[in-house]
Amino acid sequence: MDKGIRVTVWNEGVHERQHEAVKKIYPKGMGRQIAQYLKKQPGIASVHVSELSDPDQGLADKILKNTDVMTWWGHMAHHEVTDENAARVQQRVLEGMGLVVLHSGHLSKPFVRLMGTTCMLKWREWKGIGEKERLWVVDPAHPIVDGLPEYIELERAEMYGEHFDIPPPDQLVFISWFQGGEVFRSGCCWHRGLGKVFYFRPGHETIPIYYNEQILKVIYNGVKWAAPTAVKGGIKRDHFDPPLEKME
Ligand code: ZN
Repeated sequence: MDKGIRVTVWNEGVHERQHEAVKKIYPKGMGRQIAQYLKKQPGIASVHVSELSDPDQGLADKILKNTDVMTWWGHMAHHEVTDENAARVQQRVLEGMGLVVLHSGHLSKPFVRLMGTTCMLKWREWKGIGEKERLWVVDPAHPIVDGLPEYIELERAEMYGEHFDIPPPDQLVFISWFQGGEVFRSGCCWHRGLGKVFYFRPGHETIPIYYNEQILKVIYNGVKWAAPTAVKGGIKRDHFDPPLEKME
C-alpha cells in the first residue's frame, strides 16, 4: 500500500436521521465522525463516506473498485441492503478488499454471508444508559492493538454477550468483560479468500463511543491490518498447472 489506503466508511445513516438522541451525538452522522478521524491518520490516502440513502446504496462498482478497506456500521436497516449489493461486497472481500465491521454490523448481510453462520448474540442496554465494559487485549503482539494499553475501559456500553455465533476467529484480539457478568469476543479477525475481515464490538448509537480516541485507534489499526496485501503477479487458480520441475 505504497500510495496509502483508500477507505470507504459505509454508514447506514438511519438512526442519525430518525432519533433525536443519536442526531445530537452525531449531527453529521456516525460515518463522518469516524471518517474525520481516519482522514488525519498516516498512511490513509482517502476516506469516502457512503450511506444507505446514496445512489446504489453507496456501493456502486466505481466505489467498491476504488476501496482498499471498507468499514461498515448498520443496525435497523440491514434488510434494506440488497442481496446483490451484499454479494458484491462479499466478492470484493474475496478479491482482497478489507472489511472492518463495527458493533451492530454483526447482523449486516455482507458479514453474515462472509461468516456463514447466524452471527446472533445476546444484548442488553441496561436502563437505557448501559454498563461498564472492559475490553481486554488477549493478543498483545497483534498489529491491531499497537499503541494501546492492556485494556480499554468504557464507563457505559451496551452489553453484547456470548454465545456469539461466529466461526472461530483466525485471530482473537479482544475479549470484553461486562459489569453484569457476561463476556464477549469483541475483536475478531478472519481471512476470507484474499481479503481480511475484522469485527470490533463497541459503537452503540446512543453512546458517543466514536469520540473515544482508543476506540478510534483500534478502528484505524484494524483498517491498516485489513488493507490488501498481494503477492507479485497475483494468485492463479482454476487452471491446469504445468509442473515446475522436470517430471518423468
Ligand atoms: Zn447497539
